[in-house]
Amino acid sequence: MTQSRVVLFEQSGGPEVLKIVMQQVGAPGPGQVRVRHHTCGLNYIDIYQRSGVYPLPLPHVLGMEGAGVVEALGEGVTHLAVGDRVAYASAPPGAYCDARVMAAAQVCRLPDSIDFRTGAAMMLQGLTTHYLFERTVPLKAGDTVLFHAAAGGVGLIACQWARTKGIRLIGTAGTDEKCALALAHGASEVINYEREDFVARVRDLTDGRGVGVVMDSIGAATFERSLDSLRPLGMMISFGNASGKVPPFDLGILGAKGSLQLTRPTLFTHIADYATCQAMASDLFAMVESGKVAIRIGQEFALEDVAEAHRQMEARSTTGSSVLIC
Ligand code: NDP
Repeated sequence: MTQSRVVLFEQSGGPEVLKIVMQQVGAPGPGQVRVRHHTCGLNYIDIYQRSGVYPLPLPHVLGMEGAGVVEALGEGVTHLAVGDRVAYASAPPGAYCDARVMAAAQVCRLPDSIDFRTGAAMMLQGLTTHYLFERTVPLKAGDTVLFHAAAGGVGLIACQWARTKGIRLIGTAGTDEKCALALAHGASEVINYEREDFVARVRDLTDGRGVGVVMDSIGAATFERSLDSLRPLGMMISFGNASGKVPPFDLGILGAKGSLQLTRPTLFTHIADYATCQAMASDLFAMVESGKVAIRIGQEFALEDVAEAHRQMEARSTTGSSVLIC
């Protein structure tokens, strides 16, 4: 038994609902592991869960990502050992804490060359980038993708992943500074969608044809215009709702706009299987160790400053990845 600070919330609401309390952490059961965190990852999904967009049973501890050291192993866990350096992205939430007991299947051994901060910053956003580019729609060198929020956590990893694969990524972002950051990380072209009509700009950049794939994590504010940026038979990957959920819509719109395809994926389906999760993490670690993808940590916060971290994320004032230091 050990003690841990945890970030708990008892009701949905703004950042002020987040409270730090002490909890007992017990021994891991079969298939579980106890991890002592060095760093926890911050992700936009944490905001949806805190605010009630994705409701959780309450009270609940937030957080779906962390890096640290294995403290204890439950029965049947063979891929880890006590003392291993590890990192993970995993459901259900519970990662904003010093130590936790959790399922071992999604916990991955962290290569020695990757520090804990980077480990905690890269798992959820990096594995998301992996499934978007490698497992959702066939993409090859020369293909063109429109990617919104290209200077965010997933965004900067996506820019680099696309560059490595020879994919032309047209990135959008909310300020000129963010656009410059996305460009520096490998976006081929950038559009400031706060002051430019991104549909018109995409048409200009693609000789009027539109892109083959849109990766849209903004949701309500961009959904329809993202569909308008696609060429006939194009694929809309709607994977987030930073501006609010996409309202219900008439499926016939997909036909009218050119036999479009639409998917609404989530990382947790892709990593549910142990072997698949570990293989995806190996690919991601290789990308980072090769230097093809660098994880940019734009913001670091102490665990007790978690509410301020949420405020900054919601205010769109962060770039790259954000972490909590335990
Ligand atoms: P980001 O660091 O990208 O932060 C979100 C960004 O969205 C903001 O910085 C902002 O960039 C943009 N944005 C546009 N409109 C709004 C708005 N109204 N309010 C707030 N932000 C807005 O977050 P993450 O990298 O953690 O995640 C990116 C997106 O991907 C999120 O929507 C997240 O939920 C989603 N996601 C989905 C997963 C899945 O499997 N389905 C897994 C991981 C992430 P700008 O100012 O440039 O517009």
